[in-house]
Amino acid sequence: MPTALVTGANQGLGFETAKALAQKGYNVIVTARNEAAGRDAARVLGRSARFVPLDVTSAESVAVAARFLDGHELDVLVNNAGISLHGFDANVAERTLGTNYFGAGRVTDAFLPLLAPTGSVVMVSSGMGELSAVDPELRQRLLAPRLDRPLLDAYVNDFVRRVREGARELGGWPRSAYRVSKIALNALTRVLARTLPAGQRVNAVCPGWVQTRMGGNGASRSVQQGARGIVWAATLGAEGPTGGFFRDGRELDW
Ligand code: NDP
Repeated sequence: MPTALVTGANQGLGFETAKALAQKGYNVIVTARNEAAGRDAARVLGRSARFVPLDVTSAESVAVAARFLDGHELDVLVNNAGISLHGFDANVAERTLGTNYFGAGRVTDAFLPLLAPTGSVVMVSSGMGELSAVDPELRQRLLAPRLDRPLLDAYVNDFVRRVREGARELGGWPRSAYRVSKIALNALTRVLARTLPAGQRVNAVCPGWVQTRMGGNGASRSVQQGARGIVWAATLGAEGPTGGFFRDGRELDW
């Protein structure tokens, strides 16, 4: 049986993605920062699911989870865990980037060694991550073929530093930590796609506006509809696309 690991799988899109993958015959590793909630979610999914604690913001938690799963092969890694906070200050910027961008990067680094030769990584992103929100000069730098992880991390850290210092000029980034986190996650997707061996894939997916704790009750899509596009990207065959940005299986512009 193929195996999938989903972060933030105790509720919302992560839980629904884990559920759909279990129904497709995957062994699902349900990960969550909250032990009780993660165990409950795995119990609901039944025998094909098991819980592993994982807080994406903690290097130690990620390392322990990766050590625990050492020797396993992952066919799918879904970087779903994310936060969207109110307001705009240093605390919001640090926490949002720490979870949505650095957290996804940390998890990917830790689990890539376990990824099967035809494995797939999905970054759960957002239309909020479109580059139209970025000023043209930074946009060019984020799209440059020579962009690599250290450079991207430096651009993101520069944003956080500017917010911390109360700068009016944010270096071309928009005044929204959530947007910045998803713009950076999309850039990370492009960078990773260039370095993965042939056969492995990484794609970013926008689930649309979905009824979850984050999306709220007024959102236009059910959690099942939102998860469908994530599952599509997770289960692409070895010949499937890589380094793209998709909603409902259709490619989006960066
Ligand atoms: P929810 O708030 O329902 O779920 C978010 C999940 O992420 C929860 O399980 C939460 O855990 C988990 N999480 C947050 N921080 C951490 C952490 N440090 N370590 C591990 N898990 C963590 O939101 P959604 O299901 O809507 O969001 C899932 C993803 O989809 C996010 O990346 C979001 O940005 C993205 N998205 C959502 C949209 C929407 O309309 N809903 C639109 C576009 C993108 P806990 O329960 O402990 O808080």
